[in-house]
Amino acid sequence: MDASLPRLWANSVRQIDLSNANAAHTETVGDINRQIVLNYVRERQPISRAALAKETALQRSTISRIVDGLIAEGLIEEHEGQSSGGRPPTLLRLRAEAVVAIGVDLATTRTVVATSDLAGRVIYREEFATNPRADKTLKLIVASVRRLARKTEQRIEGVGISLPGIVENKTGTALFVPFFKWQNWAVAQEVSSAVGLPVVADNDANAAALAELWFGRSAIRGIRDFILVLVEEGLGTGMVLDGDVYHGQNGAAGEAGHMNIGTRAPIECAAGSRECWEAFASERAALARYARLGSRTSNRGRLSFLELMDRARLGHEPERTALIETAEFLGVGISNLIKCISPKTVIVAGNITRVWSMIAKPLQDAVVENSICRGLDSCRIIPSTLGHQTRLMGTFSLILANKFATSSPN
Ligand SMILES: [Zn+2]
Repeated sequence: MDASLPRLWANSVRQIDLSNANAAHTETVGDINRQIVLNYVRERQPISRAALAKETALQRSTISRIVDGLIAEGLIEEHEGQSSGGRPPTLLRLRAEAVVAIGVDLATTRTVVATSDLAGRVIYREEFATNPRADKTLKLIVASVRRLARKTEQRIEGVGISLPGIVENKTGTALFVPFFKWQNWAVAQEVSSAVGLPVVADNDANAAALAELWFGRSAIRGIRDFILVLVEEGLGTGMVLDGDVYHGQNGAAGEAGHMNIGTRAPIECAAGSRECWEAFASERAALARYARLGSRTSNRGRLSFLELMDRARLGHEPERTALIETAEFLGVGISNLIKCISPKTVIVAGNITRVWSMIAKPLQDAVVENSICRGLDSCRIIPSTLGHQTRLMGTFSLILANKFATSSPN
């Protein structure tokens, strides 16, 4: 089997979770083979049945049975390929338009609601200002989801919601969203009962990590252990271990934005501390550094983070210095994560990746400087392979990944 494809069962030494044994019983060899075939079609389309049999080492008859089933389900389709003289070959491809997911990316300032096809392509998109009151934001989400659902003729698989806080992923309850001080908000359940669709909710960085795992570009294909660092107003992390997002107890894993990395940060983190990584390395930290540096020069204007980056790109000081210092603190935190997890890759996502060529070196240098053993770490640090869509792709992935994964969490 090709190493670049998600390996669904090879080399697994995972212990069977006996408390979840009923779910494991449904995961038969037939189900696993079906998912392998579906993933091959997704990654290698257009592909013939003969090529599928060769690559998966499954029997031709088994391939035919699985393919017929997937065609009957409407997930893949056949079409005629280019003839090279004789009879044109019959090729298979994903019917991306067959399935639609709705994504709700609830962020501190704006909430984006959009529909996507099975390949993660955006169909319709709308956005509104996030209301600091959860009940008001809920109403806006429900109205938007209903509008997009009315525009959609295809089957809607479900709604994926991401939030900037701790989300109990099994129940879709937002346990704590520090920016708004929201606590114990059963957001998935409330949206689901209002719109009548299945709803999955998760932390935004976890969802973004899931998007890189399933929809990431070639740089991330086949990598089963990585950490995603989502740099925004706040700072969140999502961990993928052995091809799955690691949630920890109650979904509270990945709160590395609140690990202590120093004292006297330029801002307070969303939870009010000046010692957290977020207080040193988020967009707000960069803006606070700029304000502090700028007050020593004639440059006192208030900028947005996008404007700060634009001015830094043009070579303006102290905008450049503010970004580079922020990148160094990103590197310090990333070096701590590498010491704990030793992932193959760290992915940085968020607006700051727009100035990657400016920040990559100071960030990498800080990682090396803080590394426990120089030269040992072969960990790659790359910008998100999903460009500026990482968070939105995350919300779609909460629904779409279930189509391709071996077992559904629901
Ligand atoms: Zn904190």
